[in-house]
Amino acid sequence: MIDLFSDTKTRPTPAMRAAMAGAEVGDESSFEDPTVNLLCERVADLLGKEAALFTPSGTMCNQIALAVHGRPGDEVICDASAHIVHSEAGGVAANGGLNLCTVPGLRGRYSAAQLRAAIRTPARGSPRQRVVVVEQTSNFGGGAVWPVAELDAVTSVAHEHGYATHMDGARLMNAVVASGVSASAQARGFDSVWIDFSKGLGAPVGAALAGSKAFIAEAWRVKQRFGGSMRQAGIVAAGALYALDHHVERLAEDHANARALAQGLVGIPGLRVDPTLVDTNILFLHLDDAPGVPDGAEFCRRIQEHGVRMWCYAERTVRAVTHLDVGAADIGVAVGVVRQAMQA
Ligand SMILES: *Cc1c(COP(=O)(O)O)cnc(C)c1O
Repeated sequence: MIDLFSDTKTRPTPAMRAAMAGAEVGDESSFEDPTVNLLCERVADLLGKEAALFTPSGTMCNQIALAVHGRPGDEVICDASAHIVHSEAGGVAANGGLNLCTVPGLRGRYSAAQLRAAIRTPARGSPRQRVVVVEQTSNFGGGAVWPVAELDAVTSVAHEHGYATHMDGARLMNAVVASGVSASAQARGFDSVWIDFSKGLGAPVGAALAGSKAFIAEAWRVKQRFGGSMRQAGIVAAGALYALDHHVERLAEDHANARALAQGLVGIPGLRVDPTLVDTNILFLHLDDAPGVPDGAEFCRRIQEHGVRMWCYAERTVRAVTHLDVGAADIGVAVGVVRQAMQA
């Protein structure tokens, strides 16, 4: 199977598994796991923050951070396509008691002017706005990268109003590799930021959230409350450390493969793909009226029969994501399978 469903489908390599098997461990919840401690130092350093904490997932990083930044009834501003809006089971409301104010950005990115327009005049009847969230890269925006100048513009508007800023950096390292701008420079205007190890970085489990020492102290309390405090977590943290050492630069291959896939799909009748919109490892395919291919679900079913898996994102939109377990040779095969599916 050429699995383009998501970059979460990666499996740990033999070398990563060996690093995990040999990890030194201790009780994470009392800071006695040397591998977790090392990972947290590495991530804090990478992201230019004072401290970091290890969590089981990126979703937990978002949920912890927003619960620290806001109180029930407060409001979070984010793009309308954000993962926190669509893919975290309503956790922003259920866990944080927070209201969402969504901004209609372009490919997951909104401008500083759009943020300004979303800012409320304080009134007793309005939710109190507290946090501004940015997703780098934007998942449902097709892996679009925010230029660092736009990140800075948005965070300065937020701080002007005394709002906290949070970066969902699930794929921040993809943005680093694609733009050449360091993670710490991209994160400099953010009070909290996290990276995921289980996406393109190819580790089986884990994410890490960074911020000031005071923020991380509060984040630890919420992590405990959410049941995210762990024990001998060094086993999985070792996979994350291995990923930081060996799987960052290679993200460029995933980006090249995504571009090659988009270019290969251009011109297939009934399909619309724009290679100029492929910034990183995610691309969207749009189905026009094609006889015999009624919708994205049928398209995905058909290509899967021939060994290629993608995700039906909307009725006529399909998402493909490249990653560690998809090689350059697989791209040509996938293009052939899609061409066949569209002809059938
Ligand atoms: C995957 C993802 C998350 C959640 O991360 P998990 O580790 O899967 O919980 C959050 N935000 C974005 C943008 C993502 O792509």
